[in-house]
Amino acid sequence: MKIVSRSFPMPTHIWWIRRDLRLKDNPALHSALQGGHSVLPLFILDPRLLNTAAENRRHFLFNGLRRLDEDLRSRGSRLIVRSGLPEEVLPAVVAETGADGVFAEEDYTPYAVRRDANLARYIPLQRVVGVTVHHPAAVVKPDGSPYTVFTPFSKAWKALPLPKPLPPIPDHLPPPPFLPSDPIPPAPENAYFPAGEAEAERRLLEFLDSAVFAYADDRNRLDVDGTSRLSPYLRFGMISARRAAALTMEKIQQTADPAGRKGAETFLNELIWREFYNAILYHFPHVLQTAFNPALRNIEWRHAPAELAAWQQGLTGIPVVDACMRQLLTMGWMHNRGRMIVASFLVKDLLINWQEGERWFMRHLVDGDPAANNGGWQWTAGVGTDAAPYFRIFNPILQSKKFDPYGHFIRRWLPELERLPDEYLHEPWLTPAEIQRKTGFKPGRDYPLPLVDHAQVKERTLRAYQQSKPRE
Ligand code: FAD
Repeated sequence: MKIVSRSFPMPTHIWWIRRDLRLKDNPALHSALQGGHSVLPLFILDPRLLNTAAENRRHFLFNGLRRLDEDLRSRGSRLIVRSGLPEEVLPAVVAETGADGVFAEEDYTPYAVRRDANLARYIPLQRVVGVTVHHPAAVVKPDGSPYTVFTPFSKAWKALPLPKPLPPIPDHLPPPPFLPSDPIPPAPENAYFPAGEAEAERRLLEFLDSAVFAYADDRNRLDVDGTSRLSPYLRFGMISARRAAALTMEKIQQTADPAGRKGAETFLNELIWREFYNAILYHFPHVLQTAFNPALRNIEWRHAPAELAAWQQGLTGIPVVDACMRQLLTMGWMHNRGRMIVASFLVKDLLINWQEGERWFMRHLVDGDPAANNGGWQWTAGVGTDAAPYFRIFNPILQSKKFDPYGHFIRRWLPELERLPDEYLHEPWLTPAEIQRKTGFKPGRDYPLPLVDHAQVKERTLRAYQQSKPRE
């Protein structure tokens, strides 16, 4: 890119937007606004990230950028978009504008850490905390070492004071210097997750006004919309994590009813799980390559491409697993209980490497986040930091009966089971011949027979995990 010499009379700050597509409670924007500078909101379409991101996330991001541009324009500013590698684009924009400060929210993925450390050597890059409420390096043991177990981490997290809320953003933002902008690529809107800060805010407030009170129990029910569905918005910073945490803490204080209060406390804990996995990734970036637990890095996984494909497409013959996998393919999102059930099925029942599942999720999830996804997979596979013990194996049928007791969730996602009476929904292969005749539903023809018999595969899995140990 041609570098033009500085020609703008007004001192300029660049607000480099990455995972903070919002105006409210935005520490990077707030810092950029200090000192009466002109502020240039910049987003760099980095091909290294875009080419590997799931289509669902790319679309969500593009629509989010469009909303952000509208919000900026309503305040007299606008978004400048540039395509290219940050190490080329950013120095060029700094030179074009003569900016004496670049403000960005610190991101903890290994790629982002390397990118930013490199850039900070030759541009005035200032990183501020914002992806999480507290910086991962601030929530550590008294000796300075990182926590690897959730409960003490959450205690230490709760003991820190919340950062002060930022003042509201001014109605008029200082207009950025005129610079050409690349277009934001067109993208269809995900009907389940319309992008943007206004939608994120609406969801948070609505959730904290109603569903949060029943969250402690409802969050596990597949057939109930009992969770906030905020994950994609938190992933791209369309709502600030600290604002979500602060409003939840207020709710805890204001709620006298013990059950309702427990709901809000449980929700806060989930927000802290998000902080925990960000901290794990920050302190142990190698988890993206291998199991956290060295003793479980040598499991002999099965190479079973047909079974993996059946799992991916929701054709395993276990209705709860298939319903969840189809929910993922349709919505780009899956219920947390579902994520645990299908992850456990892939790893513990099919004995397929958890990293295959991790990759598939990243290809489809609109909220796909390296830290939370890796943490969730390592936890379920029992190979991670604060993992479920590896010998604990989810029974998908019991999970199905417990968390989708009326089969509403299964029916919603598996139309081929429509004719099946409720009592066989969780295990269609048990449908008696008589019922098959009456309903015209035939297991194996209208819906696959189960890929595996859960009771039989348990031994195989336990053996594989135990045999991994001696090699380390
Ligand atoms: P809510 O129940 O309303 O929770 C509120 C917020 O807390 C979520 O939006 C999320 O930001 C955070 N949160 C909740 N549970 C967790 C958790 N276990 N770990 C980390 N953060 C959590 N979450 C992602 O955001 N991105 C992922 O890529 C991702 N992959 C996962 C993979 C597996 C195998 C598992 C078991 C879990 C994964 N999760 C992931 C965590 C969790 O399933 C989702 O955050 C949650 O289902 C999102 O729905 P919600 O916003 O309605 O959640």
